[in-house]
Amino acid sequence: MKFNTKTIHAGLEPDSATGAIMTPIYQTSTFVQESVGVNKGFEYARSHNPTRSALEANLAQLENGKFGACFGSGLAAIDCVLKMLSPGDEVISTSDLYGGSYRLFNTIFAKYGIKFHYTAMDDASKVKALINENTKLVWVETPTNPMLNIIDIEAIANVVKGSKAMLAVDNTFSTPYIQRPLELGADIVMHSVTKYLGGHSDVVMGALVTSDEKIAKEMYRIQNSSGAVCGPQDAFLVLRGVKTLHLRMQRHSENGEKVANWLTKNPAVDKVYYPGLPNHKNHAVAKKQMSAFSGMVSFTLKTDTTQAAHAVLSKCKLFALAESLGGVESLIGHPATMTHASIPADARRESGVVDSLIRLSVGVEDIEDLIADLDAALK
Ligand SMILES: *Cc1c(COP(=O)(O)O)cnc(C)c1O
Repeated sequence: MKFNTKTIHAGLEPDSATGAIMTPIYQTSTFVQESVGVNKGFEYARSHNPTRSALEANLAQLENGKFGACFGSGLAAIDCVLKMLSPGDEVISTSDLYGGSYRLFNTIFAKYGIKFHYTAMDDASKVKALINENTKLVWVETPTNPMLNIIDIEAIANVVKGSKAMLAVDNTFSTPYIQRPLELGADIVMHSVTKYLGGHSDVVMGALVTSDEKIAKEMYRIQNSSGAVCGPQDAFLVLRGVKTLHLRMQRHSENGEKVANWLTKNPAVDKVYYPGLPNHKNHAVAKKQMSAFSGMVSFTLKTDTTQAAHAVLSKCKLFALAESLGGVESLIGHPATMTHASIPADARRESGVVDSLIRLSVGVEDIEDLIADLDAALK
């Protein structure tokens, strides 16, 4: 099955009880057993739920993996990966990282004796230099948030190979429509399903996919033991969302590219960050590992102040001022005072998150309306 067909059919069978073509919402906590130990594959809904199982199978196939697991949020999925480690183990992570992941690593898992190293990963040799006997996990996020830096997954996989570490990739910004890390040598793919996979800003969920049986066994053991599962209603909503993933990502990418190109010509705009622009510093790597460039665009203003950025945010009518990303509707945000406010100003500016940096999640509306909205705000 090719990708677009998989979004609609992979892992999904008509309901065995009724023939319903859409996977029903199995809103039940338990399943009646024929006799002790004899059941239809379902005992208790923390362990397995048919709606969740259908989504897990679907997402696994979209990433070209064998095993999928869904969680109550993206962070709960990352939490599961970290729980595969033991005290004394070391992790090497992308430095330009989703803030919630950073908080989970440093304020929760560091306490349990796991050591974290952060590096830019623009050059795989920087990762290689940090790998030692205790390194058990390399955590890559690409494109990064909000600077949209691109990390060469295959190059990192080559330096991790032969070590004791697993390579995990946060694929939230790309989705498997654009980039499939398992095919590039990663062991685990992670998603904040909340974003593009759900796609309609109505669900908070996370997912992991792997093809490695040993990792999968641990993943399911922790999913069941820690219990951070998603509910069947949310699984249903995401199954519905994923059926149009290919259509949405195609339009998000088209609109993203058009907005990025338009911004480069606007006199109020200083820099534009979009991996699809030929002058993006990692454009060659982006072209190698991504089939499109998604809908995330960041830019700075010639007037590099928080006030100037806030003025643009407040004048946008169609682009809604909000956290999150990846829904059908366009969103606008100001990292320095929103998602990245907790990072000290100097370190923040050092990483490129200057005072006027604005981040867009470009939706699937008509491009003329989106550009008219930005044009009015930037004037
Ligand atoms: C949102 C996000 C997360 C966290 O996911 P939640 O569903 O909010 O818990 C992790 N990584 C990236 C890149 C994200 O954008």
